[in-house]
Amino acid sequence: MQKHKVRAVHDDDLLKFLDSVGLRRPIEAGETTCHVCGETVSIDTLQAVLPVNKTIAVVCSRVTCVKNIEAVTGETA
Ligand SMILES: [Zn+2]
Repeated sequence: MQKHKVRAVHDDDLLKFLDSVGLRRPIEAGETTCHVCGETVSIDTLQAVLPVNKTIAVVCSRVTCVKNIEAVTGETA
């Protein structure tokens, strides 16, 4: 039986990281929104977690959002 495909990143590491920054619960609860488009971000659509202005910004996996990471963080991807 084939289950859902595992993400390219290591899920365990991702979840541990989200735990460490306190984001896992809000993301799983659907309370976290994309820093670029404002849509709700889930574990499945999470693309990046970035420090922005001393807070942590989450960006979803939309192509337009990924492209805009640089614009919102001021950092080169
Ligand atoms: Zn987005």
